Amino acid sequence: MNTHISPAIIMRIKEFGESDLLVTFFTSERGRLKGVAKGGRKSQKRFANCLDLFCLTSLEYELKRKGDLHFLHSCKLINPFPGLRSDFSSLSLASYMIELTEILFPLGVTDKEMFELLKNAFLTLNEGGRTDTLRILFEARAMALGGYKINLDKCCGCGRPYAGEGRVVFKRSKGVIACMKCEQESKISPGLGPDTVKALRIIQSTPWSKVEDSPLTDEMISEIKPVFKLHMEYRIDRRLKTAKYLE
Ligand SMILES: [Zn+2]
Repeated sequence: MNTHISPAIIMRIKEFGESDLLVTFFTSERGRLKGVAKGGRKSQKRFANCLDLFCLTSLEYELKRKGDLHFLHSCKLINPFPGLRSDFSSLSLASYMIELTEILFPLGVTDKEMFELLKNAFLTLNEGGRTDTLRILFEARAMALGGYKINLDKCCGCGRPYAGEGRVVFKRSKGVIACMKCEQESKISPGLGPDTVKALRIIQSTPWSKVEDSPLTDEMISEIKPVFKLHMEYRIDRRLKTAKYLE
């Protein structure tokens, strides 16, 4: 028997057959997986209260011989994150975080740091963190982990290293910055102040736990927002379905 027990975040649930559930879940060890919970719609014993959207559970599952569907044996609830469902904006942001994770990490692609990011983002959101700040912290770190980190080290035009002084502009087509001698600020090349660049550098490369020590100011949020909107649309090549609920 190829049985595994692992902490997992429930990403999607669908009714399957008469009494089963088709569950998509995210694990630290094996990334995003899909499995069938036999009798999941009825069995309160094996799946008591833990096959719910966004829940963090300890999941026991077994790899099926053919195909990518696992058998879910049982699960134990670790954290139901009730705060994620307490209001529309928290619910929308949690759904958005799940969607972005699915896009950046296809089935079976493992990234322990991404699991920690999603878990910690849910913990913070559950405690009632500011959704606009949380969204940016999550987007910046998730995009970096997914291989789309914005290069803030030097100007893409003249190659001059950015020493942390003066404004720069973001260049969507390359995912980099340019100095004000090489480029002008515009709607498709939004500007960033030096403090914002510094903050962005930190949130792209620091695990979640330390990010809380250096919160973003309102000014930084208003500068970073358009940058990530452009960056994500360009790199992911689509607008997230759940994004419209966050406006
Ligand atoms: Zn330059």
